[in-house]
Formats: sequence, C-alpha cells, structure tokens
Amino acid sequence: MSARKSRKVRAPKANGKLNGHCPFRIGRSRTGLGVFATEPIRKGTFIVEYTGRLLTNKQCDEIPDNRYLFEVNARWTIDGSPRTNVARYINHSCRGNADPVIRDRRIRIKAIRNIEPGDEITYDYGKDHFNAYIKPHGCQCDKCRAKRRKARAEARAANARRKKRLERKLAQQAASRMH
Ligand SMILES: [Zn+2]
Repeated sequence: MSARKSRKVRAPKANGKLNGHCPFRIGRSRTGLGVFATEPIRKGTFIVEYTGRLLTNKQCDEIPDNRYLFEVNARWTIDGSPRTNVARYINHSCRGNADPVIRDRRIRIKAIRNIEPGDEITYDYGKDHFNAYIKPHGCQCDKCRAKRRKARAEARAANARRKKRLERKLAQQAASRMH
C-alpha cells in the first residue's frame, strides 16, 4: 500500500469563503480530495458557501446528471460542479462536523461541532445522495469504517469460538474411541 501524502492543492480564488478568510485547505483524503481545517473552527461558524449556477429543477432534469447538484428547495437547485466551488470538495460523513444551511437560495456550510486544525470537514449528504452515489461503493466515513471494523472483529471472535468447540468435540471423540 502506498503511503498517501497529504498534498496541498491551491484553493481557487473565487471561492465562497466567508468571514473574510479561509480556515481550511484542500488536501488528499481517503476518497480523493477533501477539505481540512487549518485552524480551530468554532461550532456555529459559517465555513464556506456552496456556490454554482442556480438552475430551476426543471432545467436540472435537462442537463446531464452530476453528483454536485444540490437541491435548494422544490424549485431551485445549485449546480456546484465548477471547481471554483471549493465546498464541492467537502466529503460526506454519516456523522459530519458541519451541515449545510439553506437560506434565500444560498447554501452555506456551518460547523456543528468545534473543529480542530487538521480535522477533515464533512457533512451528511442526505439519504438520496447516499443511496445513489455512496452506498454502492461502501461509505468510507469514520463511523461506517468503525462499524465495519467492529463487525469483522465480532465475526473473527465467533469463528474462533466455533473452532474451539469443534476442537473440543474432536478431542472428546478421540478420547472415547481409546476406551
Ligand atoms: Zn458513513
């Protein structure tokens, strides 16, 4: 396995940064690129805006599907696919530390926990996106990886117990044959 170095990628200039500066950088994550805090971000802080072309949902049906379409409400969707939309690099987590807040046809990503420097910034993409794009490949978020690790450990323990039982049984059979 190759060691994955976190490589700095310059954030495009026209990003949706809020509060005057950029408390994050784009870097290598488990699943490609991700967004990482470079300084402490207090719970409740707006981190970045999810920007892109504002389309009616009807217009959306007419363009090729892409995973960065973010439905704002029953009428509007933001097409966040341009690379200038830094927020598109924020990965999904089933237990994210941020959350999109939708208001006035704008999407802003807000910290819902205190985030430490070096932490990856993530939010829950929601059920529809999860089922369409993430579930088929297996979710790589910390929570799901921990869950799978636990399941594997339990399966290993159950196997070991089964093996022990079998060995005991064989030993008993061997012993009874000796008599
Ligand atoms: Zn997950």
